[in-house]
Parts: sequence; structure tokens; C-alpha cells
Amino acid sequence: MSVPRHLEFFVDPSRCIGCRSCVEACTECDTHRGESMIHLEFVDRGASVQTVPVVCMHCEQPTCAEVCPADAIKRTGDGVVQSARKPRCIACGNCVVACPFGVPELYIDRAIMMKCDMCYDRTSVGKKPMCATVCPSQALFFGTREQIHALRPQSMPTNTFRFGDQVIRTRVNVMVPRRPAAPAQIDVTAAMDERPPSRAVRLPVVGDDADPFAQVEV
Ligand code: SF4
Ligand code: SF4
Repeated sequence: MSVPRHLEFFVDPSRCIGCRSCVEACTECDTHRGESMIHLEFVDRGASVQTVPVVCMHCEQPTCAEVCPADAIKRTGDGVVQSARKPRCIACGNCVVACPFGVPELYIDRAIMMKCDMCYDRTSVGKKPMCATVCPSQALFFGTREQIHALRPQSMPTNTFRFGDQVIRTRVNVMVPRRPAAPAQIDVTAAMDERPPSRAVRLPVVGDDADPFAQVEV
């Protein structure tokens, strides 16, 4: 059993409506005992309600596996990085700290790390991951490149991410707009430093010389 190469996972953050269907669907999977392996994060909660689903990106050279002292994390030949093997994992948390995408979680009560394994029991027999079956806006899509190109002509998939000097390629793709010129890779570190436009508006704070309530009648 392996995930067919022509089937890929595409994450399109701009389509996420924050409904949490993916999170709930993920909890129903028996292989991780009622826990959701998908995180729903706010992009910048202070400035926007935009959410983004975070799944394991299944790195070509998984940092989580490289730092695991017990060799508990394996990448199978189809490019899927499996969750920690129970008999080996010593719950040290190295992978949790090392993953550039913030994916693995440590379950102290069970003394094991668990993470998204792309619903291996499903995808290895050609089915969609649970999250992709329920996402109403198809922010999570599992299928072929031809299908995603037909569905999203204005976007293109990318699987190359830059973190400082480190470039990481993944089996999972993120959809980015084609125009203006789509980047060959996503510079994650630079994006973290970007300030959203709304932050350009400086609100008066207590202690400013100008009284912000001068015009307010009480
Ligand atoms: S995204 Fe994180 S958990 Fe997933 S393979 Fe890469 S390093 Fe490992
Ligand atoms: S199911 Fe889709 S739209 Fe809903 S929160 Fe998850 S990714 Fe976003």
C-alpha cells in the first residue's frame, strides 16, 4: 500500500472560511484516537479573521525525523512522513521544536508524538484524507495536478519554502496567486516580518500628547 504519486494534497489558505469542519473530521479517525491532527490557525488575529488549516507538509528531508534520537519517524517511499512509531518514541519533544511548520504535538499522557500522516489508511488506497472530504470551500483539496489546474486557473501550486538560508521542499502544495508573478518559493521568514496594511494606521494610545477623547461628549 502506498499513496499514488499522481495524487497530491493542495492547501489553499485564501479559501479557508474557518468553519473547523476539517478539525472535527480529523478527530473521527481511529488511528489517532479522537485527537485532531490538523490545526486551524489565525493568520494575524489582531488584524484579520482569516484562518489557515495547518497539516503536515511531508517534507522531502523531514527535520522532525532528522532530530529524532530514537529514529521513530519514518518517511515512506511515497513521500509521506509517518507519525512517530509507538515502541520507539521517547516523547523527548525534539521534533515538536524542530518542525519549521509547527506540526507535531506531544501527548504527555500517552508519552508519544502524534502528527498528521495524510490519513495514510485512506490515501494509500486512493481515498481522500478526511479533512479534504469535508472542506466546503476546498481549501483542502486532494487530487491530481490536472484537476487543481482546471479548478483554480488563477492560482498555482508551490512546494518550496525558504526559512532564512534553508530551503525546504514538501510533498504537500500550497496554492498561491498566479499574478502578480507567482514566486518560485515562499519565503516564510520574510513573510513573518511583513506588516499587514491595517497596521499602518496608528491608533492613539494612553499617554499620547493628543487627547484621543477630546472630541467625545460625555
Ligand atoms: S512539516 Fe514538520 S512534521 Fe511534517 S514532515 Fe516536515 S518537519 Fe516533519
Ligand atoms: S474545513 Fe476547510 S474551510 Fe473549514 S476550517 Fe477547515 S480548511 Fe477552513
